[in-house]
Amino acid sequence: MFRPAIAYSSNGIIHRMTTCPVCQSGELTHHIEARPAEWEGRTGLVDLHYSICDGCGSEIVDQAQSVLNKANILAFRGDL
Ligand SMILES: [Zn+2]
Repeated sequence: MFRPAIAYSSNGIIHRMTTCPVCQSGELTHHIEARPAEWEGRTGLVDLHYSICDGCGSEIVDQAQSVLNKANILAFRGDL
């Protein structure tokens, strides 16, 4: 299972020491981006986690990030 080590920097960006699974050479950097969301007429911003490869530029969402994203979306919807 894909379980990279996570380190939190002072600016809130999470840096993961992981190698890109697409090009096998670039290093992935974790980003958190507030993206617009809409649910039952309400609009807002949901923090979505993803990684960008500094080698090939691929945008990757791993399993841990997917779980975080889903939790954020559910929280936005008021389901939590
Ligand atoms: Zn890459």
